[in-house]
Amino acid sequence: MFKALREMFSKASSEAKTKSIEDISEVAGDSGRRLKESVLDDLLRELELDLMQADVALPVAEEMVGHVRGQLAGKRIDRNFKIDEAVELAVKAAVRDVLSENSFSLSEKIKSKAPPYVIMFVGINGTGKTTVIAKLASRLQKHGLSCVLAAGDTFRAGAIEQLTIHADKLGCKIIKHQAGGDPAAVAYDAVDHAKARKRDIVLIDTAGRMQTNANLMDEMKKIKRVAKPDLVVFVGDSLAGSDAVEQAKRFDAAVGIDGVVLTKIDADAKGGAALSIAKAIGKPIIYVSYGQEYDEFRKFDADWMVARIFGDETKAGAEL
Ligand code: GDP
Ligand code: GDP
Repeated sequence: MFKALREMFSKASSEAKTKSIEDISEVAGDSGRRLKESVLDDLLRELELDLMQADVALPVAEEMVGHVRGQLAGKRIDRNFKIDEAVELAVKAAVRDVLSENSFSLSEKIKSKAPPYVIMFVGINGTGKTTVIAKLASRLQKHGLSCVLAAGDTFRAGAIEQLTIHADKLGCKIIKHQAGGDPAAVAYDAVDHAKARKRDIVLIDTAGRMQTNANLMDEMKKIKRVAKPDLVVFVGDSLAGSDAVEQAKRFDAAVGIDGVVLTKIDADAKGGAALSIAKAIGKPIIYVSYGQEYDEFRKFDADWMVARIFGDETKAGAEL
């Protein structure tokens, strides 16, 4: 890992954390130390390698490095700060820049319209979509919102069973048809049920066989047309790296993604996939999911992401 960065993450003064890169370079005036070009080049080369090792896609890594260079090249740095601290601030700014769309409030969105609020989940099999639906339903129920699950993966009988087990555990209604049925009809029935019974939220599961399959994308389009979801969420596996980025792009092209849930971050040593996906489709990472318990689910946090990418595991661990 990027030694210089890791060290500065553990040593950086608390003062540096409350300052922005502009503060420490602009107040420096003529008395600050000028950052040597050769030192900056070395740091940036190391930064790019480090980002790539953390699974950040090359174009995203390059853009971030460019952003950091733009912040620091030719600048004088206040003598009260280490060069490292300036780099830390610039890197954090670059990460936040990539994640700029990250101020997402589901509660605001839910409140902004008459119920039911309909959420459609897309993503390929095995990424953790069903688990995410159950976790989000549990979270919403804890906050007093009633949920209806729609077993829209009619392609696999196992998927219907699995969602039924969650619905039983959660004590919420599930709308399901026979395996092989029309998933759009299931989604429609679920929305209809929620309207009739005045339920707050509909969570629609969908099939996820091979994201390259044109039939699957047609199926997603049809469900969207029929169920008219308020939000389309892409569920991506943080272990899938560039595959997850490609999947996100395909689903986004087919149905339009409003936000991303990143799964299995308990198993992901790196986390760069989040940055790559966010950059590729320009949509916020809303939640992250880890483990099997319903409460192992939380809002995405850019600072946690930074700590994770730069290997500050103590910080990353504490955040979970
Ligand atoms: P947000 O934090 O306000 O954006 O809400 P969430 O996106 O976490 O959840 C959406 C809905 O679930 C809202 O109606 C919230 O009342 C409820 N909810 C679930 N978990 C939480 C939580 O941890 N904090 C808050 N504020 N609301 C939550
Ligand atoms: P789906 O096919 O996309 O609906 O995926 P599932 O929700 O069925 O999950 C697929 C597999 O991944 C199951 O074995 C889950 O137990 C596992 N899984 C799901 N989410 C997580 C997670 O956050 N962390 C870990 N370690 N495993 C997960």
